[in-house]
Amino acid sequence: MAEVVGPKSMPNFTSEWDGKPMPLWREEAKSPVMHGLLGVDLEKPAGEYEWKVSWAGTDGAAQSCEMKITVRTGKFPTERLKVEKQFVQPDPEQEKRAAEDQKKMKAIYDTVTPERYWDGKFRLPLKDVTTGGNFGRRRILNGESRSPHAGVDFPAMTGTAVFASQAGKVVIAENLYYSGNTVVIDHGYGIYTLYAHLSEIGVKPDEMVKAGEEIGKVGATGRVTGPHLHWGLTINHARVNAMQIAQRQP
Ligand SMILES: [Zn+2]
Repeated sequence: MAEVVGPKSMPNFTSEWDGKPMPLWREEAKSPVMHGLLGVDLEKPAGEYEWKVSWAGTDGAAQSCEMKITVRTGKFPTERLKVEKQFVQPDPEQEKRAAEDQKKMKAIYDTVTPERYWDGKFRLPLKDVTTGGNFGRRRILNGESRSPHAGVDFPAMTGTAVFASQAGKVVIAENLYYSGNTVVIDHGYGIYTLYAHLSEIGVKPDEMVKAGEEIGKVGATGRVTGPHLHWGLTINHARVNAMQIAQRQP
């Protein structure tokens, strides 16, 4: 969580994290405090990166302020799983579908909605759960190395209700090759939550949902070893551990 305290009006204010725009918001229009979430992708190499804010001073001259932030290497276990062959060696047709899904997701994450749809804390997406696992695990599927696990898994029975973590706008509500029946919610300011492998989808694209509203049911669609909910959190393209947003007020 990043915070900037300054005059109520900072003309031409911009914020950049590692050279890319990082949006900040004010809790109230007149508040002198701005907040932002500084997302560190799970595959970001260790090193020092810069967070920089710039604005125009009272005399109109450009002002800026930088801060170095150290990213350390995360320690994640490796696991070996067995899944259906088509999810490790897709045929050309399936490969094409997966590539199209990826393109669609990228276009969504490239969009930063300059509006705060959420209000209050983000909640876990299932009732009566307090822990979720597997974030960051390095994965070997059917003996082949694959990208690390970018979400949090909650084992649950097929048909268990899945709830929106916070208010937002549904931007994906369809079947995708690897993540099966998938819902993605745009919460604004580059913050997105994803709910994958659903047996049923209960919302439609462009629909506004409230925090805690039911959006679908747990299932085992797509690349899975059994029924569970895969919950993802993306902050300005960075795939981060969703459990962390449920532990504090963004
Ligand atoms: Zn998962």
